[in-house]
Amino acid sequence: MKTLLNLLIIAALATTSAFADAKVKAGPRKGLLLDLGSKQAEFFVEKDRTISIAVYDPAMKPQAATTEVITATAEAPSGKTKIAFEVKDGKLVSTTKLPEGEGYQVVVQAKSTPEAKTRNFRIKLLLYTCKECGNPEYACTCDE
Ligand SMILES: [Zn+2]
Repeated sequence: MKTLLNLLIIAALATTSAFADAKVKAGPRKGLLLDLGSKQAEFFVEKDRTISIAVYDPAMKPQAATTEVITATAEAPSGKTKIAFEVKDGKLVSTTKLPEGEGYQVVVQAKSTPEAKTRNFRIKLLLYTCKECGNPEYACTCDE
Protein backbone atom coordinates (compact mmCIF):
# COMPACT_ATOMS: atom_id res chain seq x y z
CA MET A 1 0.00 0.00 0.00
CA LYS A 2 2.81 2.38 0.88
CA THR A 3 4.51 1.67 -2.46
CA LEU A 4 1.32 2.44 -4.29
CA LEU A 5 0.99 5.72 -2.42
CA ASN A 6 4.59 6.66 -3.30
CA LEU A 7 3.92 5.90 -6.95
CA LEU A 8 0.87 8.13 -6.87
CA ILE A 9 2.89 10.96 -5.37
CA ILE A 10 5.59 10.58 -8.01
CA ALA A 11 2.97 10.58 -10.76
CA ALA A 12 1.38 13.71 -9.32
CA LEU A 13 4.73 15.49 -9.15
CA ALA A 14 5.62 14.52 -12.70
CA THR A 15 2.31 15.88 -13.99
CA THR A 16 2.75 19.15 -12.10
CA SER A 17 6.24 19.87 -13.41
CA ALA A 18 5.27 19.05 -17.01
CA PHE A 19 2.44 21.52 -16.69
CA ALA A 20 4.66 24.24 -15.25
CA ASP A 21 7.07 23.94 -18.19
CA ALA A 22 4.41 24.96 -20.68
CA LYS A 23 4.46 28.69 -20.05
CA VAL A 24 1.21 30.36 -20.91
CA LYS A 25 1.51 33.71 -22.61
CA ALA A 26 -1.34 36.11 -23.06
CA GLY A 27 -1.71 38.76 -25.73
CA PRO A 28 -2.86 42.40 -25.60
CA ARG A 29 -6.50 41.34 -25.84
CA LYS A 30 -6.02 38.97 -22.85
CA GLY A 31 -6.26 36.05 -25.23
CA LEU A 32 -4.02 33.00 -25.36
CA LEU A 33 -0.89 33.39 -27.49
CA LEU A 34 -0.13 30.54 -29.85
CA ASP A 35 3.43 30.41 -31.10
CA LEU A 36 3.43 29.90 -34.87
CA GLY A 37 7.19 30.24 -35.17
CA SER A 38 7.57 33.38 -37.26
CA LYS A 39 4.34 34.83 -35.87
CA GLN A 40 2.18 34.83 -32.78
CA ALA A 41 -1.54 34.19 -32.98
CA GLU A 42 -3.85 35.29 -30.19
CA PHE A 43 -6.81 33.00 -29.53
CA PHE A 44 -9.70 34.93 -28.05
CA VAL A 45 -13.29 33.92 -27.37
CA GLU A 46 -15.71 36.76 -28.05
CA LYS A 47 -18.88 37.38 -25.99
CA ASP A 48 -20.99 35.75 -28.71
CA ARG A 49 -18.79 32.60 -28.49
CA THR A 50 -17.12 33.11 -31.84
CA ILE A 51 -13.33 32.80 -31.80
CA SER A 52 -11.20 35.61 -33.11
CA ILE A 53 -7.51 35.24 -33.78
CA ALA A 54 -5.24 38.27 -34.06
CA VAL A 55 -1.80 37.94 -35.60
CA TYR A 56 1.41 39.59 -34.36
CA ASP A 57 5.00 39.59 -35.51
CA PRO A 58 7.70 38.32 -33.08
CA ALA A 59 7.94 41.85 -31.58
CA MET A 60 4.17 41.70 -30.91
CA LYS A 61 3.37 44.30 -33.56
CA PRO A 62 -0.14 43.64 -34.89
CA GLN A 63 -0.21 42.20 -38.40
CA ALA A 64 -3.16 41.77 -40.70
CA ALA A 65 -3.97 38.08 -41.13
CA THR A 66 -2.88 37.08 -44.62
CA THR A 67 -1.23 33.70 -45.18
CA GLU A 68 -2.25 32.02 -41.92
CA VAL A 69 -4.16 28.78 -42.20
CA ILE A 70 -6.18 28.05 -39.09
CA THR A 71 -8.90 25.55 -38.29
CA ALA A 72 -10.24 24.40 -34.95
CA THR A 73 -12.13 21.45 -33.56
CA ALA A 74 -14.32 21.88 -30.50
CA GLU A 75 -14.43 18.59 -28.62
CA ALA A 76 -17.72 19.33 -26.89
CA PRO A 77 -19.65 16.64 -24.99
CA SER A 78 -22.34 16.93 -27.68
CA GLY A 79 -19.80 15.85 -30.30
CA LYS A 80 -16.85 17.22 -32.23
CA THR A 81 -17.48 20.38 -34.20
CA LYS A 82 -15.16 21.66 -36.91
CA ILE A 83 -14.70 25.39 -36.87
CA ALA A 84 -13.57 27.35 -39.91
CA PHE A 85 -12.18 30.88 -39.97
CA GLU A 86 -12.44 33.78 -42.37
CA VAL A 87 -10.52 37.03 -42.44
CA LYS A 88 -12.51 39.95 -41.07
CA ASP A 89 -10.94 43.36 -40.32
CA GLY A 90 -7.46 41.83 -40.42
CA LYS A 91 -8.29 39.10 -37.92
CA LEU A 92 -9.31 35.50 -38.39
CA VAL A 93 -12.85 35.08 -37.13
CA SER A 94 -14.67 31.78 -36.77
CA THR A 95 -17.64 31.32 -39.06
CA THR A 96 -19.45 29.28 -36.39
CA LYS A 97 -19.85 29.72 -32.65
CA LEU A 98 -18.40 27.42 -30.03
CA PRO A 99 -20.84 24.72 -28.90
CA GLU A 100 -22.68 25.15 -25.60
CA GLY A 101 -20.91 24.65 -22.32
CA GLU A 102 -17.26 24.77 -21.35
CA GLY A 103 -14.53 22.66 -19.83
CA TYR A 104 -14.02 20.77 -23.08
CA GLN A 105 -10.96 20.92 -25.31
CA VAL A 106 -10.62 23.09 -28.34
CA VAL A 107 -7.90 21.90 -30.68
CA VAL A 108 -6.49 24.63 -32.88
CA GLN A 109 -4.46 23.65 -35.92
CA ALA A 110 -2.48 26.58 -37.16
CA LYS A 111 0.31 27.44 -39.53
CA SER A 112 1.69 30.82 -40.52
CA THR A 113 1.79 29.98 -44.24
CA PRO A 114 0.24 27.17 -46.30
CA GLU A 115 3.74 25.62 -46.65
CA ALA A 116 4.59 25.72 -42.94
CA LYS A 117 4.24 22.74 -40.65
CA THR A 118 0.91 22.58 -38.86
CA ARG A 119 1.08 23.20 -35.15
CA ASN A 120 -1.56 21.78 -32.81
CA PHE A 121 -2.70 23.60 -29.71
CA ARG A 122 -5.01 21.99 -27.18
CA ILE A 123 -6.90 24.62 -25.25
CA LYS A 124 -9.16 23.82 -22.34
CA LEU A 125 -12.18 26.05 -22.78
CA LEU A 126 -12.74 27.72 -19.41
CA LEU A 127 -14.38 31.09 -19.89
CA TYR A 128 -14.52 32.56 -16.40
CA THR A 129 -12.08 35.36 -15.55
CA CYS A 130 -9.13 34.46 -13.36
CA LYS A 131 -9.20 36.71 -10.29
CA GLU A 132 -5.42 36.93 -10.10
CA CYS A 133 -4.27 37.79 -13.61
CA GLY A 134 -7.60 39.08 -14.94
CA ASN A 135 -7.38 36.90 -18.04
CA PRO A 136 -10.00 34.42 -19.12
CA GLU A 137 -9.07 31.13 -17.46
CA TYR A 138 -8.07 29.54 -20.81
CA ALA A 139 -5.38 32.26 -21.05
CA CYS A 140 -4.47 32.34 -17.34
CA THR A 141 -0.80 33.15 -16.85
CA CYS A 142 -0.65 32.52 -13.10
CA ASP A 143 1.84 29.96 -11.85
CA GLU A 144 -0.10 27.35 -10.00
ZN1 LIG B 1 -4.60 33.71 -13.71
